Amino acid sequence: MAAGEPEADCLFCKIVAGDVPATVVRETKDVIAFADINPQAPVHILVIPRAHYQNAGELGVIEPELAGTLLAEAAAVAADEGLDENGYRLVFNTGAGAGQTVFHVHAHLLGGRGLNWPPG
Ligand code: AMP
Ligand code: ZN
Repeated sequence: MAAGEPEADCLFCKIVAGDVPATVVRETKDVIAFADINPQAPVHILVIPRAHYQNAGELGVIEPELAGTLLAEAAAVAADEGLDENGYRLVFNTGAGAGQTVFHVHAHLLGGRGLNWPPG
């Protein structure tokens, strides 16, 4: 189970492989972005590297350039969704105690409504 390699039982690796359907809004050679199946805001998109890393920290340590690419692509999706003016939130839940349920790093891009702070 090497970092960066596909994992057989990972839902998001299956989406990357096309084995599980998703509503894809952006694709590059490194990153894909697709609609969250249980949206928490009018815009709720998940932005993921194609390569499998458990969480944002692991990605940033092992592949810092890819981590930067992920952020740049998330910003591009936000712009495409018209969120630049009113703002948006990027969230990386890390660990089960913080609500992470899929252990393939993903940025939640949330917007299209007011977002409270602090989050729950
Ligand atoms: P997290 O709880 O931070 O790990 O986020 C996982 C996210 O994946 C949740 O917001 C789920 O709604 C979302 N999700 C689960 N299954 C799918 C799927 N098949 N397609 C799109 N999003 C999904
Ligand atoms: Zn994966």
